[in-house]
This record gives sequence, C-alpha cells and structure tokens, in this order.
Amino acid sequence: MTITRDDYAKWIKAFALVINENKEFLTQLDSAIGDADHGINMDRGFQAVLNKMPSLETQDIGAMSKGIGMVLISTVGGASGPLYGTFFLQIGMTSAGKLELSLTEWITALESAIDGIVKRGKASPGDKTMLDSLMPGLAALKEKAVAGASISEALHASADAAQAGMLATIPWIAKKGRASYLGERSAGTQDPGATSSYLLLKAAADTWNGLS
Ligand code: ADP
Ligand code: MG
Repeated sequence: MTITRDDYAKWIKAFALVINENKEFLTQLDSAIGDADHGINMDRGFQAVLNKMPSLETQDIGAMSKGIGMVLISTVGGASGPLYGTFFLQIGMTSAGKLELSLTEWITALESAIDGIVKRGKASPGDKTMLDSLMPGLAALKEKAVAGASISEALHASADAAQAGMLATIPWIAKKGRASYLGERSAGTQDPGATSSYLLLKAAADTWNGLS
C-alpha cells in the first residue's frame, strides 16, 4: 500500500483541525517562553491552507505540498512560518510529480523537509525547538522501515518517539528562537514548536492508520 494524493490531503486537513483545537494550548505554551502567538500563527496559516485545498488537492503530491508551503510562508509569520513553509516546500521538491508515496519515499521526503528546517533555522538537537520532536520521529520511522514494519506501524512508532522528544524539551534551556532570550527561565515549559510538530506526525499516524 502507499500514501496516495488523497491520503496526503486528508493528513493536511486533519492537522488543520488539530491545530485549531490546540490553538489556545499552543499559544499558552508560547506565552510562557515566547510571545504568545504560536497557536494563533499556526491556526491562521492552516486555515488559509484549508481554504486553498480545493485547488491544491487535485494536483500531484509535490505540487500540492509546494502550494501548502507557499501559503504557510505568506500567512504564518514568526520563526515558525518560514520553517514550516520550508518543510512543505522540501516535500514538494522530493515528491515532485508523484501521485503516491511508498514508506521509503515518505521517509526521503520527511528527511529532506527536516534538513530544510535545519538549514534555514540552524538549530541542533537539544536546542528546544521543533527539531526535538521531528528528529526522533524520523529516526523511529527509519528504524521501523528497516525492520519491515507496515506504514501504519512505523507512523505510530514515529508519533510516539516525537511525543517523547516533545516531553523531553520541558526541562531544557532554549538555545534558539525567542525562548532563548529567557535563558534559564525557558526551562520548565514544553517547547511550542516541538508540540505542533509532534501533532503533525501524530496526525499522519492517525490519518494513515491501517496503511500496510
Ligand atoms: P516566534 O518565536 O517568532 O514568535 P512562533 O511562536 O510561531 O514564532 O514559533 C516558535 C517556535 O519556533 C519555537 O517553539 C521553536 O520550536 C521554533 N523555532 C524557533 N526558532 C527555531 C529555529 N531556529 N529552528 C527550529 N525551530 C525554531
Ligand atoms: Mg511566538
């Protein structure tokens, strides 16, 4: 089985809903260690994406993802806008012309998306950013794929690893982004971006549940 263009569109729509439901929570996390806008930024961006989906979802996965990235760059703002925008633009490039993705192709796409965030934001693992849930999520996905797991099984392991990565950020001192201005006072709060990134991988596992 593969991740089809319809599956890809379903994931994006499911994530837009999850972001809307978690808007206050994400903003609350960002009010503790940032400027209280992460939920608002992400919700603005993904509502704009939702509005654009009728024209995007009829295109191939690459073009759809590129369109999503462009909407995010122009609507989300803050640090996370260009970073999530880059994430989807990169998937757009690695999945250009594709109407479906195998687990291996999805891993390649996700890896390029995360590399894009690293290149753009220059953060390292442990800096208390979205990378701290995305990177463990990707590592678990690769591990499961090598072991011959189904897409569904691999995605659930990936979401679990991303969740553990997100929770691990709580005691850390932020080294990048606005939270880093707080120094030691950034310890004790879960990173907002690591939280939205966990929700992104969790939405993939929930939406693509059952793919073998
Ligand atoms: P801003 O910090 O500009 O207000 P948001 O509140 O929308 O933007 O997003 C904050 C999140 O962005 C942080 O919680 C962190 O996960 C992520 N972030 C910030 N800087 C970086 C970076 N250089 N690399 C990766 N992620 C980052
Ligand atoms: Mg903020």
